[in-house]
Amino acid sequence: MLFLTELQCFNFAIIFEKKNDIYLFEKNIKEIISLNFNSIELHIIDTEYNFEFVDKINILANEHLFLHPVLYTNNQKIVQYIYSKQNNRILCESVCNFYSYDISYDSFFCNIMFFTESQHYNTYYHKKIFISKDGLISNMLNSSKNFGNINQIYNKCELIEIIALQDFQLLWYASKEKISICKDCEFRHLCIDRRIPLKRKNDSWYFTTECNYNPYICKWKNEHGYLPLNDCGIICNEHGFSIDKSKLKKVLKNLWGLLKTQYFSSSNFWG
Ligand code: SF4
Repeated sequence: MLFLTELQCFNFAIIFEKKNDIYLFEKNIKEIISLNFNSIELHIIDTEYNFEFVDKINILANEHLFLHPVLYTNNQKIVQYIYSKQNNRILCESVCNFYSYDISYDSFFCNIMFFTESQHYNTYYHKKIFISKDGLISNMLNSSKNFGNINQIYNKCELIEIIALQDFQLLWYASKEKISICKDCEFRHLCIDRRIPLKRKNDSWYFTTECNYNPYICKWKNEHGYLPLNDCGIICNEHGFSIDKSKLKKVLKNLWGLLKTQYFSSSNFWG
C-alpha cells in the first residue's frame, strides 16, 4: 500500500464483499487510514450487518472526514437505524446498486477537471489500479487478466513498470470521443461509465450493453417515447457502427414532429 502513496495515488477505494470480522475490519481500516490518502471510499456490501458494526464505521468516519463509507444493504432496519443517527456519515444504497452498470443523471459530473480529462481519457478507467483481495493487480474490477501480485512487489519501480505497460493502460485512452454511440451523445463529457469498452480491429470502441439513454432521440429509458437503438436504425457491434438514416428520420418525425433537416445534416452522425 505504501507504494501507492509514493506513486502519488492519493485516492483509495476499498470494497468489502463479505461479512467481516469486526475487529479485523477495524484493524485493517485503521492501517489504511494511517497511510495518509486524501480520500478513502469504503464500499461495504453485505446484508448481515449488526448495529455495533455500523456504529464502529460511523465513529471512524466522524474521526476521519476523508473516509466516505457506503453501505450496500437491503435490510431496512439497518437503513432506518443509520439514518436515525444525528451524526451519521454513512450513505446507504441497495445491494443491486453496487453491481449495476446503469447510467443515470447520478452518473454525471459537471466540473472543468472532469470535462478536461474526458477529452482524451476514459474518465472511469484512467489511472485506476485494481488490486484484488489476493493481491492481483489489474486494470479493471474482476478482471481475468492480471499484471502481477502486489505481495511480490518490493519497490515502487516494479509497480511503475507494470503501470507503464501499454496493455495495462489500454482502457485509459478509450475516451468517449472514440466510443460508438457515446461519441454522439451530448452528455459524453459529463458521464462516468463503468461499462468495459471493447476495441474493434479498426481501433474504434464499442460497448456490448446499451445505455439507458438514447442520444439519437434524446430520451431516457423511463421516458415516454423511448426506443432502443435498433428500433431507431442504429446498429452497433464488434463489426462496426451504422445508421439507417431514413429509419431514424421517421422515428424522429414521429417523436418530435417536423425536423429542421439543416440542423441534423450538420451534426456529427448525420453525415
Ligand atoms: S450514451 Fe454514453 S455518454 Fe451518453 S449518457 Fe449513455 S453512457 Fe453516457
